[in-house]
This record gives sequence, C-alpha cells and structure tokens, in this order.
Amino acid sequence: MVLAAVAVALLSSALLIENFARAHAERRAVEGLRQVAVDFRDALDRGMAQQFKEIRVLSQLEPFRRFDDPAAMRRALDQVQIGFDHFAWMGVTDADGRVLAAAGGLLDGVNVSKRPWWQGAQKGPFVGDVHAAVMLEKLLPRQSDPWRFVDFAVPLLDSSGQRRGVFGAHLSWSWARQIKSELIDATMAAHQADALVLGQDGTVILGPSALEGRKLAEGMGEPGMALRQHAVDGEDYFGVSVQSTGYGAYPGLGWTVLVRQPVSVALADYYLLRHQIVLSAALLLALAVPMCWWLARRMSRPLNQLTEALARRHHLGSGEQLPQVGGYREAAVLSHALSELTRRQAEQDQWLAQLNASLELRVEDRTVELQAAMIKQEASERRLRTIADNLPVLISYIDAEQRLRFLNATFRTWMGTEPEAALGRTMKDIFGVVIYEQRLPAVKGALAGVRQRFETRSEANGVQRDLLTEYIPDVQADGTVAGFYTLATDITAFKQVERELDQLSRIDALTGLPNRRQFDQRLAEALARSRRSGLQMALMFLDIDHFKQINDNLGHAAGDMVLKVFAERVCSCVRETDLVCRLAGDEFVLILEGLNQTEEATVVAQKVLDAVSAPLSLAGTDVALSTSIGVACARGDGDSDAALLDRADDALYAAKAAGRGGWRMAE
Ligand code: GH3
Ligand code: MG
Repeated sequence: MVLAAVAVALLSSALLIENFARAHAERRAVEGLRQVAVDFRDALDRGMAQQFKEIRVLSQLEPFRRFDDPAAMRRALDQVQIGFDHFAWMGVTDADGRVLAAAGGLLDGVNVSKRPWWQGAQKGPFVGDVHAAVMLEKLLPRQSDPWRFVDFAVPLLDSSGQRRGVFGAHLSWSWARQIKSELIDATMAAHQADALVLGQDGTVILGPSALEGRKLAEGMGEPGMALRQHAVDGEDYFGVSVQSTGYGAYPGLGWTVLVRQPVSVALADYYLLRHQIVLSAALLLALAVPMCWWLARRMSRPLNQLTEALARRHHLGSGEQLPQVGGYREAAVLSHALSELTRRQAEQDQWLAQLNASLELRVEDRTVELQAAMIKQEASERRLRTIADNLPVLISYIDAEQRLRFLNATFRTWMGTEPEAALGRTMKDIFGVVIYEQRLPAVKGALAGVRQRFETRSEANGVQRDLLTEYIPDVQADGTVAGFYTLATDITAFKQVERELDQLSRIDALTGLPNRRQFDQRLAEALARSRRSGLQMALMFLDIDHFKQINDNLGHAAGDMVLKVFAERVCSCVRETDLVCRLAGDEFVLILEGLNQTEEATVVAQKVLDAVSAPLSLAGTDVALSTSIGVACARGDGDSDAALLDRADDALYAAKAAGRGGWRMAE
C-alpha cells in the first residue's frame, strides 16, 4: 500500500509537471515563432514601403521629365540602377505604353501597355504583386532560380498635370530573399524553423524552393493562425501566421508571413524533461520498493509473530506464554498487553472451570431434589384428583371473573357437561341466564368473602337431584377474594326421607287416617275456606262407647282391629272431600265442608251411627260396636278451631251422658 501510494504520488506529480511543462513549452514555442513572424513581416513591409518611396522619389527627378530626350533619360536610369541594384529593370514609357528609355536599353521601344503595372499606373502610383518574368527572362542574365519581380509604377505628369508617361521598375524578388536570409535565416536554421510568405491567393511566394509557386493545403497560412499543428511531408509543425498590412504609403499586397517549426524541435526541451521525469520516477520507485518492503517487514514482523502465536491456540487463555516481541514501541506495548490479557484469561478460565464444576454439582443435586418434589407433588395431585373425582360431591373453583377453573368428575354426571368443555367458561355461559340470576346473590356474597349455603334442585340426564351447595370464599393473604370453591352435596335421599317422615308424622299408623297433627292443620284450613266461601262446616267428635270393655274382653290386638274397622266404617259414610281423623285412643273427628244447612250434618251423623253399629264378629265373638257423636257447626266467622273443638267435645259429652249410641248438636 505504501508502495502504491508512492507510485500514485510519483505518477500524479509527474503527470502534473509533464502537463505544465508541455503547455509551457508549446506556449513558448508559439510565442517565439510569432515574434519571428512579426519581425519578418515588419521588415518586409518596411522594405517594400522604402522601395515604393524611393521609386516615387526617383520618378520626380528632372531627367525623367525630358520626354524629348530619351538618351538623357537612359543615362540617368543607368546611373540610378547602379545604386538600386535590386531593381532588375527600370524604364520610362510614353503615354501610349512604348518604352522610351530603360536602364541597360532593355526593352527599348517595346510596347508594354498591356502589362498590369503600366495599366495600374494609369490611376496613380502602383505596386504589383510578385510574378515571374515575362519579357525580360531572356534578356536578363541567367540565374539558378527563375526571375521574379515586384512591379512599381508611377505616372509621370507634366507641369500642367497632363499624363505624359509612366516610370516603371521591376524589383527582383531576390531582394526579399536577401532580407529573409539576413534577418531570420540564421536563427531559423538553428531552430530548424522556416518562414514562408504567401501571396494573396495563398501561393508560396517566398520559402523553400520546393514549395515556391505552390499552394499550401486548405486553411494553412490563414491570417492570425497560431499553434496549428499541421503535417507537411510526414512532419508535425507548429505554425504562426501574421498578415501584412502595409507601411506608410505602401498599402500592402495581402501577404501572409507563416513561420513554422517542427513540433519535435519546438518541444525538444519538453521531451528531454519528460524523459528525465520518467527516469527520476522510475529511479525513485526502484528505491521505494526495497524501502517499502523493509518498512512493511519491520511493521508486520512483530504483529505476525503475535498473530501466529494467537492462531496456534483456540482460546486466549490456553497454550504457552505469548512471545515478547519488540521492533517498535507500539508492538512491544501490544505484546505486553496481550500477554497480560492471556495470563488473566487463564486465571479466569481456571476460576470459571471451578465455579462451573461446583455449579454443575449443585444443579445436579437440585435437579434430583426437584424431580423428587415433582414426583411427590404429582402423586399428591393425582391422589387429590382421584379423591375429588370419586367423592359423591360436586367440587369446583370459580375465579373472581366467575369463570370455572376447576371441576371434579361429578360435574359430568350431575350437570351433563364434560368438565373439559366447561373449564374457562363463565357461570352465566354454563348454567344459562335464569339459573345464573338465581345464583347471583350467593356469588356476590361469596366474592365478598361470606360463606354461602343454599339448597337447589338440578336435573341432568333425566335425573333430578336435590343439592346442598356451599360457596367457600378463596380469601388471599392480603384479604382479597380470588374466587370461591363450590361444594355441592346430593341430598336427594335425605329429602325423600324427610318428605316421608313429614308424611308419617301426620298419619295415624294403626288406621292410616290423618292424626291429631294433621287434623289441627286441616281444621284451620277448613275454617279459613268456610270463612271465604260463607258456606257452613261441621265438626263431629266421635268416641267409641265402652271401648275399654272390648279391650278387656277380647284383648288389645282385637281392640286395634276394632279401631280399624271403626275407621273404615266412618270413612264409608262420608265424601272423599270430607276428612276423618283419629285424634287419640278411641277418639275420632270428622270435618264436613260446604254445608248449606245444619241438618245435612245431622244426616251424616245418623248415617255414621248406623254404619258403625252394623254387626261385627271378631274371632268368633260378636262385638257390639257403637259410638257417641258431638256435632258442632260453624260459619267460619265465629269460633276459633279450639273453641269449635271444645263445643263438639261438649256435645259428645252430652251424647255420652244421654246414654251413648247417639249424636248431640252443640249449642
Ligand atoms: P265410655 O263409653 O265412657 O267411653 O267408656 P270407655 O270404656 O270407652 O272409656 P274410655 O273411652 O275412657 O276408654 C278408652 C279406652 O281405650 C282406654 C284405653 O285402654 C283404650 N285404648 C286407648 N287406646 C287404645 C288402642 O290403641 N288400642 C286398644 N286396643 N285400646 C286402646
Ligand atoms: Mg270410649
């Protein structure tokens, strides 16, 4: 990573420097080229302006006004040309374009009126662009390059301003070549650059002879062009072009000066620098490799030692001591800290192992104890459950929300519902609204902490049961009531016995007639009925005559038999609605209800007397049976039952007194 960082840093620095250097080198090359181009252009423009000015001055000289003396003109021209050796030809024409006089006599007498320079001079001083020699090529001495000229022409006017002819001069183009060679060629050669002058139409008018007269590729040499690389003959060039603009009276001919330099030369310094940068970077990188390797080794060796020692153990606290590594301070501190940690870990492991062992033992003991307790608990619960399920009572537990939480098996038999189906449901849900409403006061009482006890009747599977139910509040330690236990006992049998006992206590065992107890109740009821209906009722008091004698003569058992027969006979005389009771011993009473008049009672009394006294034979012995009857009538609103009975008793006493075997009506 360090190596990569070094490489990246080197690369980015190198790239930055390289970019900057290239931009700088390009800028410097172009600036240099531009300076050369401007200098050259200015030299050309100034030179041309100077030539133009000189020709115009010459044309003003006196000899060139003397049209009538061509010889003098010729002499003057010859002399002038000596001083102006750049001019290949100088001459004066007449107004028609015929050469009057020329230096060296060249073209004397020839008509040049068709030449552009002559025609240009018709309007004023004229400068014509570079062109090849037309007529003079053969007349001038031979030279390596063909003759090329720049034409100057100035109209010649007389004192009246009349045009009399033209002063013409052909500047040899070698003049420009000379300027170029003097001014820039040495510098250019040193930098392998060259300069071109392009005419208005883009033709190379000055430059390497191979290019002269040719046109450069499209767009090249455009005015203002700078830093344009273009390939010529497979070589890339920087080129800068500047436009000629004339100088003073010289208007300029639309030339363009193009200076160019091969890119390889212009950027040679840059390429050298780049080469050096690459070399330096490579050298630095080469140095960095072993340095980084050494640094990485030094950093990682102690850590590796520690890592390996740690990797050999599966746990920090196990195995031999960790090695003490050095190298540098941080590694030593880390090594020391890890050793310390390892030592402490080993101590803690040992302590934990001991703790673990003792804990395991304790857990084992505890588990055994718990299992034993659970078995005991389960057995106890099973026992309780068996007891509860087999008790002939219904046991349940109902919580404060009145939901059934416990039920013994009796619930199934007595309520006709499976305990499992009832558990968790509310009392209202199980028993229905009607029964629930009946139980509600007891439920509220039990939940208020008061023990409840009541009797109910239930029916399940076609069997009716009398139940004695108790609600026993489940009072918590803090005094709140969590629910209540219910304990219902089947008391159907007791109830039956009770009912039978009640019945028995109201019946005379010997005769099967209602006894005194029932009589008291029935008499009160009969009196009440009479009071409501307004109909009369009669009470008859009967006592068997001389019953003691029957007992005495025939025995007590026969006496009992007589009592039974007597009862039957009395019963046969009355309606089913009438009541016959045995009060005690040989005393009977008869209650007649719904009587319209008293006589009806006397009729019955007589009927009883007759029935009782029918012949009776017991164990072969005739028994004379008769009774005395006391009759007391009541309308209900008069006597109490006791008073009525007294009156009947009194009447009976009267009947006895009257000799027995008859009835007496009470007062
Ligand atoms: P009176 O005509 O005055 O009534 O004479 P009496 O002999 O009938 O006298 P009383 O009515 O006083 O006697 C009733 C007797 O009835 C007395 C008692 O020994 C007898 N006796 C009472 N209860 C029973 C009974 O249950 N069985 C029998 N065999 N005798 C009874
Ligand atoms: Mg009697």
